[in-house]
Amino acid sequence: MTRSKIVPLNFGASRRQGLLALSYEVLRSKRKTLAIYITHKKVVVRCPLRASKAEVQEFVSANQEWIEKRLFEESVRDQETLRIEKGARIFYRARELTVVFKEGRKSRVLINGDKFIVQGHKLTTDKARIQVEDFLIDKASEYLLPRARGLARHLGVDHKITEIKLRKTKSKWGHCTSAGVIQYNWLIMMAPYSVIDYMITHEVCHLVHMDHSKRFWNLVESICPNHEHYIGWLKEHEHRFWF
Ligand SMILES: [Zn+2]
Repeated sequence: MTRSKIVPLNFGASRRQGLLALSYEVLRSKRKTLAIYITHKKVVVRCPLRASKAEVQEFVSANQEWIEKRLFEESVRDQETLRIEKGARIFYRARELTVVFKEGRKSRVLINGDKFIVQGHKLTTDKARIQVEDFLIDKASEYLLPRARGLARHLGVDHKITEIKLRKTKSKWGHCTSAGVIQYNWLIMMAPYSVIDYMITHEVCHLVHMDHSKRFWNLVESICPNHEHYIGWLKEHEHRFWF
């Protein structure tokens, strides 16, 4: 693998401002074509073993606009990830709210108008974050657990449930094993109820069909007719719920 510098690219919060020199990685392998991948703000060029430096450079230059666009999109996504800080804008139940820290003896989280109020004694960002985590975990236990069990009962598969866990994971909203362990990411409680219901449905339906076959999706469809819309909604917005 070699590293080389390429021409400065325009990107950032304002696309016209600031020139940033950007490096890219070149990964050579037994492939026939060149391709550019962007992951975690890194630009990787995959190319055939024999591709010359000039060839790679030219390919990158030719795709510069696309690279800029992708990097810009990533930087926007980065800025939009969930931050529990004074004045931060968060996306809760499909609404833009402003985080407000409020001094008070009682620790709690309240939603009032367009304010997401974290109340506590001598709040720090760390404390506030833990409070919001507890708030979401509580919401998940109250809402998600009984609904998942209820739906499983309705489908006649409640005996298949070994355990329903609530866990924050890096990239998944839910998971269901053949041993009957269902796992939900409690961060889903940031989403609208319709989307949460879709997630509940998805995992519980796996107790009936342990795959993503047509039969599985037909069952999901019969319970949650708008599931395709919710999947799309999650794809578009889920990066805003992770922290
Ligand atoms: Zn699945």
